[in-house]
Amino acid sequence: MKKIYDDVLHFLIHHSIIFTVIIMCMVHASLLVLAWAGGAPELAFTNVVSVIVYLFCIILCNFGHITPVYVSILLEVGVYSAISTHYIGWDTGGFFFLFAIVPIIIYFGCFIFKGVQRWIIAISLIAIFIEYVIIYLICVDRVPVYDVGFGIKVALMVFSSFVMFFGVIFYNGMHIYSSEHEVISLEEKNEKLTEDAKIDALTGLLNRRGFMPIVEQTVKSKDVEKYCVAFGDIDNFKRINDSYGHECGDEVLMHIARLITKEMSECDVCRWGGEEIVILMKDYDLKEAGTKAENLRKIIETTPTVFYNVRVPVTITIGLCDNAAAGSSPDDVIKAADARMYYGKQHGKNIVISEDISEDD
Ligand code: GH3
Ligand code: MG
Ligand code: MG
Repeated sequence: MKKIYDDVLHFLIHHSIIFTVIIMCMVHASLLVLAWAGGAPELAFTNVVSVIVYLFCIILCNFGHITPVYVSILLEVGVYSAISTHYIGWDTGGFFFLFAIVPIIIYFGCFIFKGVQRWIIAISLIAIFIEYVIIYLICVDRVPVYDVGFGIKVALMVFSSFVMFFGVIFYNGMHIYSSEHEVISLEEKNEKLTEDAKIDALTGLLNRRGFMPIVEQTVKSKDVEKYCVAFGDIDNFKRINDSYGHECGDEVLMHIARLITKEMSECDVCRWGGEEIVILMKDYDLKEAGTKAENLRKIIETTPTVFYNVRVPVTITIGLCDNAAAGSSPDDVIKAADARMYYGKQHGKNIVISEDISEDD
């Protein structure tokens, strides 16, 4: 139901100008009948002209010429109100059409005119008001050309006041709906931007901005009894860039990211920077994490990246530490794993180091 309601409003907003023109055309077709029935042939003829104007406007709308349609509506209503009041009198409500187009002038004017051009809207509104006052002053006590009779008078009055009410309600409703719609889609875009800001564009892994809050939460949480952090750094990555080109280096990074995401699907994986990757392994003790990290190291070692039919083998060195060894701040945890990774780099690379090894050992 909500979907249908949204779709209808969406449709009306996107087709509001042609919808307006069609309604105006139908209004004048109805007024034509009433004017004819009231015995006012000049007014009936005026309505024929109005219907033709709006039919022409429908064609203009289809070609996207909105400004001439806007001007036509303004002029047509201005002229029609004056002619109608002249022929059939003040008390048939022709002046209501001047009020009916006020929301139309504002609603479409704000779409068409931007910035300082909006003075056109203000001037149009002032002109409409001045016309209303002039029509009132000239016609309020004047005997009209035709007396259409009580029945037609009431019908015209009710009809034109309905058109005015409809105009006010419809265009205000449209305005409120479209601004709310705008706010909602801005919020959605904002949310997406915030999410995107947490993701590394190349690998699709979390970046530090997205990752650190998760580590902080884990370190603070009373519910997480054990966790480990793995700090991985691709070995001799500079050499890959130098030998195969930067594009190949990027492909290797994406390939490694895919492997890690697959193997560590239940963990949070972050591209820490360059060719460094940090993995938060919740609910793992050091032994379990060591097995998992060793498995990952082997998979990376035995699954080379294929770049334009060339197999590019890479290895990774991983430093691992658990919450017991790490200290209490997220930075300490990551630093401790980094230190072990660094030890691995100094001792042959392509290795998992999960304990502090003294140099004397
Ligand atoms: P080690 O085994 O000691 O880690 O040596 P390494 O060559 O991997 O490390 P080093 O720090 O000397 O070089 C890292 C290189 O990673 C340098 C930099 O140009 C490259 N790099 C960093 N970010 C990217 C990236 O997004 N794409 C590519 N292709 N290369 C990157
Ligand atoms: Mg490296
Ligand atoms: Mg590095």
